[in-house]
This record gives sequence, structure tokens and C-alpha cells, in this order.
Amino acid sequence: MLTDERLNMYKKKLKSIIKFSFCSILILINTISLESKVSIVTTTTNLKYIAEQIGKENVEVYSMIRGFDDPHFVMTRPDFLVKLNNADILCVVGLDLEVGWIPVLLQQSRNLKIQKGQIGYCDTSVGIKVLGEPTMMIDRSMGDMHIYGNPHYWLDPLNVIQMSSNVLATLKRVDPINSNIYENNYKEFKSRLIILIKEETKKFEPYFNSRVAVFHDQFVYLANRFKFTANLTLEERPGVPPSSRYLEQVISNMNSQNIKVILISPYHNISYAQFVSSKVPGSKILIIPESIGSFDSIKTYEECITESLKLIRDALN
Ligand SMILES: [Zn+2]
Repeated sequence: MLTDERLNMYKKKLKSIIKFSFCSILILINTISLESKVSIVTTTTNLKYIAEQIGKENVEVYSMIRGFDDPHFVMTRPDFLVKLNNADILCVVGLDLEVGWIPVLLQQSRNLKIQKGQIGYCDTSVGIKVLGEPTMMIDRSMGDMHIYGNPHYWLDPLNVIQMSSNVLATLKRVDPINSNIYENNYKEFKSRLIILIKEETKKFEPYFNSRVAVFHDQFVYLANRFKFTANLTLEERPGVPPSSRYLEQVISNMNSQNIKVILISPYHNISYAQFVSSKVPGSKILIIPESIGSFDSIKTYEECITESLKLIRDALN
């Protein structure tokens, strides 16, 4: 026969065993759900954002570079290899934007499924209407870095819909069981982007057909979507520093065509733009947030677009 005291003791023990098992089960469930997340590595912060919109809680995304880094030139680090080795998916901008650093990393990653052409490789440029395809024979030895056309296509939100559909296709291949969730996330993001285009086009309407100069040829897609012109470049060719003779031409073009704005990204050398601006009375240099994280305040792709266009509108006023 159990005394009341012993009975109470057994009850207490039983309670703590149940409590402990419950906690263990919770921890186990959490571990499983964490492990079952699809691991995505992206080259840029904007690709990370897109992957997160399509994958939401089913994915864990890591961007190798920060928003203020130059995606053409990247100092690779050993932890990139660790991330790539464990990745289910690799997303790249493509069109050779990352040619200086991704091929070597991929080779060293020891991860078959993210190699070019494999199930986890996602080139978001597939299906994009490329602008600025070279009309003459060029090669990289001439310093030109846009030999397959202009790779800065993410600054057109319509292109981001295509990029998202490429991410969606990859996620469905890698994690088919959650296809419906990814499809719904894609539809929701696509609707947001369509609203963004409509709203921003309306705001920009008074500035249609304006002209701006740029340091590097990276704003043609933004200009094409929102109907302004951004093809006067301070660089002689993409990636090629300008000669002073060439800069004199740019200054004379800006003065004769009444171009008062120069766009530049945070990672480019501003001194050429400052020199040109000093010779064009009333001109302004605008540092454009091309990517999420360009500035601390830019936390979404939508903010990249709205802030960039706002800066340009304010300067054109
Ligand atoms: Zn470029």
C-alpha cells in the first residue's frame, strides 16, 4: 500500500517525466523543421530578398555580398565555400556579372547539385529581355564587363517577376512537396510588384523623357521601365576608366543637352563624377541604392525602386 506521501512523490516524478518528454519532443520538432528548410545561397542581397519572398518560412537564405559591395569584383572568403557546400540552391544574377568570382567558388564548393545545369542552380537572368547587347565584337581583355549585354536588369520590377519565376521553378524542383506554397507566395509577390510599377510610373509621369548621365552603365533597365534616358556614361566602356579627352566630351554633351544629373552607385569611385559635375553648372550627383543594404535605410527591393526614383524626381525638379 502506498502512503499519501509516497503517492504524491510518484505523481510529482511522473509530472516531471511528462514535462521533460514534452520539452524533448518540442526541441526535436524544432530541430526537424529547421533542418528541413531549403538552404539557399545567393550572390546579391536583392536575390536573397526575392528568394525569401518565394520561399518564406520554408527557406534559409544567405547572400554572399552586402548591398554596398561591387558585384563585379568580390574578394571571396572561406566561409563562402562552407555555405556553398551545404546549399540546396545557388542563385546568381548571371550574364557574367559574377564571372570574376563565382566559377572558381563553384568549382571548389564540392557540391554537385548547385553546379551549372544541375537541379539547384538558378540563373535568374533566364527569360530576361537583355538590353545593351554589344553591337561590335568585344572581349573582356579590353576591360569591358558587359560582354553579354547589360546585367543590371533587376532595376526593372517587371524583370523581378521573371527572376521570381526562375526562383519558383528551382524551388519546385528541389522541394516539390511544397510547390503549392511557393506558387502562392510567387503570385502574392507578383501582385505587389505590379502595383509598385503602376504607382511609380504614375509618380514619374511628369519626368518622362528626362535625360540623366551615369557613371557606370547600370541604370538602363530602370530608365527603360520609367521612361527616361540614362545612356550617357562617364565610363568610356563598362569597367573602363575614362580618359580626360572622353570626359571633356561628356561635359560638353551635358552642357549642350542641359543634362544636370549624374547617377552613381555607392561602390563606384565618385571622383570622376565630381570632376564632371564641377564643369556642369547646377548639376547634381545622386548615389542610387541599386541593392538592398546600399544604405542602412534600404531594407526591401521595393524601397530600392521607390527611393531611387524619388532621388531622381527630386533632382529633376
Ligand atoms: Zn556593370
